[in-house]
Amino acid sequence: MNQVSKTPQFDKALDEYFSKLELDEKGGQWRTCRFSGEKFYVRPEDIEFYKKMRVPLPTLSPKERIRRKIAFTNSYNLFKVVSSFSKKSIISQYPPTTPYKVYEHQMWFGEEWDPNDYASAYTDSRGFFDQFGELMRNVPRPNLHIDSTSIRSDYTNNSTRLKNCYLIFDSYQSEDSAYSISLIDSRSCFDGFALRNSDTCYDCFESSDLFNCFFVEHSKHCLYSYFLFDCRDCEYCFGCVNLRHKKYHFFNEPLTKKAYEEKIRALNLGDRESLNSLKGKFTELKKKAFYKETHNDRAVASFGDYIKDSKNCYACFYIIGGENVAYSIGVTKTRDSYDIVGGVGTEFSYESWAGDNNYGIKFSIDVDDCREIEYCDLCINCHDCFGCIGLKNKSFCILNKQYAEKDYWEMVDKVKAKMLEKGEYGEFFPPKLSPFPYNISIATSYKGYDDVETARRYGYRTEDIQETLYEVEGEIVDSKDLPKDIREVKDDILNKVVFDSENNKKSRYIKAELEFYRRYNLPLPQKHYSVRLAEKRKKFGSIVLELYERKCVKCGKSMQSSYSPDRPETVYCEQCYQAEVV
Ligand SMILES: [Zn+2]
Repeated sequence: MNQVSKTPQFDKALDEYFSKLELDEKGGQWRTCRFSGEKFYVRPEDIEFYKKMRVPLPTLSPKERIRRKIAFTNSYNLFKVVSSFSKKSIISQYPPTTPYKVYEHQMWFGEEWDPNDYASAYTDSRGFFDQFGELMRNVPRPNLHIDSTSIRSDYTNNSTRLKNCYLIFDSYQSEDSAYSISLIDSRSCFDGFALRNSDTCYDCFESSDLFNCFFVEHSKHCLYSYFLFDCRDCEYCFGCVNLRHKKYHFFNEPLTKKAYEEKIRALNLGDRESLNSLKGKFTELKKKAFYKETHNDRAVASFGDYIKDSKNCYACFYIIGGENVAYSIGVTKTRDSYDIVGGVGTEFSYESWAGDNNYGIKFSIDVDDCREIEYCDLCINCHDCFGCIGLKNKSFCILNKQYAEKDYWEMVDKVKAKMLEKGEYGEFFPPKLSPFPYNISIATSYKGYDDVETARRYGYRTEDIQETLYEVEGEIVDSKDLPKDIREVKDDILNKVVFDSENNKKSRYIKAELEFYRRYNLPLPQKHYSVRLAEKRKKFGSIVLELYERKCVKCGKSMQSSYSPDRPETVYCEQCYQAEVV
């Protein structure tokens, strides 16, 4: 194929760069991370990808490349700020001290302002990132990152296609839910984490295809059940681990339908004390369960953890429906891409925090329906743009300035060639451009990234921030003094401010949740929602991909496991695990 290059200067320089690369006998290269000093290996197939993607090799380790992107997003820390548009007090993912202009997202999506008004002409005399940083300070940003198709879901962030949701984060296409993280195609879920295609769930964790399930973890295709761990295709089960295709089991004992129903009737989950004692019993039972080497499920030729229904994924974590993906976390239906965090339906892309349906994006963040864009932020339905912020339905723009197609390519060629020469091209934005202080970014929710001092050393900004969201007025009730049984709760609880004195945080209950607790007989939660969410993230564990060499407890075979050898769980290799549970 003899295609004329649109960026001849840049392409010539990049070809030269690749021709001079010194590779080992396998065709790969060991490199040293510019931040951590850690050695990392670039595989021969990685180098092929970089050549196809037209980017130089990374200078940061996979771990530090992930930190870059997760440090650029705040998930569930919400604040009250004054809108730069209406001057009204609004909720926002940006703290009150933010240097950015924050607009109500409805306004931000509307026609009353034009992002091209902030256009700036690129100049050779200043670094690109300097100029981009200035543009960031000028162009308004939406208070919350939700899309224009979400309905009645104002207190949500980092989510798309939601309906009737409240305090839902990092989720996609879900409805009638609250206090959850990472819901996909789900409804009526409260206190959920990483649930797919599930309906009517409470406090369920990393599961899919659940219906009417409560306190269910790492399970699939289960109905009308409570306290399950690693169960598949079970219904009417209570307090069970490692079960397949079972009905009417109580703490792993088979019962008749009648006996099971009597047992259940004798329990009162709506009473906090009896619920807590059942939780304790379930925790003890989980210690006796056996565990599969990783959490992968239908992961073909893949290396990583929590890889589901995927093929050819390498060094990946929490991938659903991925193919030919590497060094990525939390992506859904993504293919032929490297270093992607988040998003649905990404193809042939690199080093980005993706939104929905992107193709050929590089070094970009929070973009939807875009193709062939680089270094863009908050853009929607754009193609062939470079260094732009907040554009909708645009093409051939640089730093929000509109160019004719021919002039665009000439300018992009010049900018990219210069950046490549200075060693700036080929990586995500530098830490100092993160729109959030590191300590409120999503990074600190994860083990391996929660050390703020290390982040500061690498150039991430931190800030002491006062909580402002719940300076709510009204009668205060300490959550320690809440009725212990849901049946004793009166409707006027909805008018009160609930103070979690242990964590020094205030909130209110909403009508939908009170109805849910009453209907399914569950006590009012005492801990503030943000504390509950943080605990769930911590429970999910490290997102630094660490697999450990350990031996299968059953057959003694060596395996790569997500459980370190000092962990107490009984871990089986894939083969022994499958033999045991079927
Ligand atoms: Zn084994």
